Amino acid sequence: MNYRKMFVVKPGEKIRLDKIDPDFTDDVSNKQDGAEKTSANAQLLADLQYKLYAENRQSLLIILQAMDAGGKDGTIAHVLSPMNPQGCRVQGFKAPSADELEHDFLWRIHRVAPRNGEVVIFNRSHYEDVLVVRVHDLVPQSVWSRRYEFINDFEKMLTARRTRVVKFFLHISKEEQLKRFEKRLDEKDKHWKISAGDYQERQYWDDYMAAFEDALSRCSTADAPWYVIPSNHKWFRNLAVSQILVETMQDMKMALPKPTVNIEEIRKLAAAEWDKMKKKE
Ligand code: ATP
Ligand code: MG
Repeated sequence: MNYRKMFVVKPGEKIRLDKIDPDFTDDVSNKQDGAEKTSANAQLLADLQYKLYAENRQSLLIILQAMDAGGKDGTIAHVLSPMNPQGCRVQGFKAPSADELEHDFLWRIHRVAPRNGEVVIFNRSHYEDVLVVRVHDLVPQSVWSRRYEFINDFEKMLTARRTRVVKFFLHISKEEQLKRFEKRLDEKDKHWKISAGDYQERQYWDDYMAAFEDALSRCSTADAPWYVIPSNHKWFRNLAVSQILVETMQDMKMALPKPTVNIEEIRKLAAAEWDKMKKKE
């Protein structure tokens, strides 16, 4: 199944999140099947990342956004962990520090964008500046409403410099969120993840959905697409994200660099070294 086509937000398309079923699992009825495909994809991703790193010319920026307990951390753990940490980095964004607030909203983002050859995963991102900031009136509407345009320009600039930008909204239902919070209460080793704030934010669910709808509609572009991933079932979420990432990276057509030495000459040197070793025996 072509998940890129199925889940992409078409540029300019006005989307309605309540029309997208977070329980969707396609024709993959079986969790086991899904998990097997995901681990095959994760292996492919590791190979693709090796090429990206070796090529050292392009880069990949993966943006993850979701409501609390939406599965950002789980996606990173399941889909992206086979990548080599040498060329891969996760960057989380909390509420901005006093220093960060003294700058434009993209300042803290741009400085941690990927360098050549790197895969960077944003766990939250500059989209918070049109999500939480809008829902809680942290800046006036006249300020946040211009940010969609700035974000599009920023991402366009990254793309022009060979950074592929791909964005995932992990779509869960309000009920699923409550279930996941409940699970955290039940499991002692998840207590650290619980905050009273999470329950308060739920009161703003509809405002968040409206803010997400605008962000997804206004900032999904041909070069930097948004995908809405049905995420009530974690295994399907992992499958869809991994599938889309494999296809995106395959499209990037990385090429291993040509050797800088004459391999035949090096082979001769190696053979001579083996001869010396053998003579010593
Ligand atoms: P997560 O919920 O992503 O797993 P966490 O629970 O470890 O992370 P939180 O304390 O929830 O950490 O940190 C993220 C918080 O920071 C979120 O509530 C988010 O809305 C807020 N945040 C991120 N960026 C901004 C921003 N630009 N302005 C205001 N708040 C922001
Ligand atoms: Mg949180």
